[in-house]
Amino acid sequence: MALRKGISRGEFSVYYQPQVNLATEELIGVEALVRWTHPEIGIISPGEFIPIAEETGSIHRLGEFVLNEACRQNKAWQDAGVDPFRVAVNISALQFAQKDLPLIVERALESSGLEPEYLELELTETVIQSAKSAIETMQALVELGVHLSIDDFGTGYSSLSYLKLFPIDTLKIDQHFTKNIETDAKDAALVKTIIRMAHELGLNVIAEGVETKAQAEFLKAEDCNQAQGYYYNKPMPAEELDSFLYRYKKS
Ligand code: C2E
Ligand code: CA
Ligand code: CA
Ligand code: CA
Repeated sequence: MALRKGISRGEFSVYYQPQVNLATEELIGVEALVRWTHPEIGIISPGEFIPIAEETGSIHRLGEFVLNEACRQNKAWQDAGVDPFRVAVNISALQFAQKDLPLIVERALESSGLEPEYLELELTETVIQSAKSAIETMQALVELGVHLSIDDFGTGYSSLSYLKLFPIDTLKIDQHFTKNIETDAKDAALVKTIIRMAHELGLNVIAEGVETKAQAEFLKAEDCNQAQGYYYNKPMPAEELDSFLYRYKKS
């Protein structure tokens, strides 16, 4: 299978997209996003190959590759003297359902030397629903010292009661809501409500898919803490991020 071969041939790489503090626009973290450079087809987007990787079981190797690479890269940035920030790694439902996920995460931390507080795992509501022992897995992960966030929040049709049960610290507002905040009064109302609810629950909130200044201003006015999107930066290879991370270098 092309995917499996691609992994062993080193065709996969990890891009990083900055997450910023909305008020100061300072970098507070990066999200790791996998890319596949196929020898014939060129760059294939994860939206296309992640579902296939899940169907074929390759997601385990692929997910482990991204996790290891993201931890190694973040430690390399720290070793280069950049002010430490978190790297967020997407965890698919199948990975989350795997019993040894905490062990895999522990190994990635150990082999990279990255302190756990600088790793965040992004889980979706589907991930949570599909795992029988979601809360136990989360607790095992939190015991390692890593942070957990809920990705694509508001798109999963799940009950809100999990928010008080799960040891998460961040909600990521899905980009579909962000996209329409200026044009759709109902989406705007939902975004405002999510931000307020998150804060009431003591959770951090980050808006995804911020593409315009107007969206950023709206979110800032609603006290959203953090943002991520093309308005700030596109996902990019580590080397490209290096140049402007230099600004955050400890003096
Ligand atoms: P996601 O986790 O919701 O990631 C955010 C997606 O939005 C990324 O697409 C990112 O490039 C894109 N994006 C960022 N800013 C903007 C913006 O301002 N406007 C718009 N329209 N899009 C923006 P990408 O990299 O193509 O990834 C797509 C999805 O593939 C991700 O959605 C995630 O579900 C999955 N994925 C990516 N990398 C991994 C991975 O390493 N493991 C797993 N399991 N899934 C991954
Ligand atoms: Ca994500
Ligand atoms: Ca997302
Ligand atoms: Ca998504």
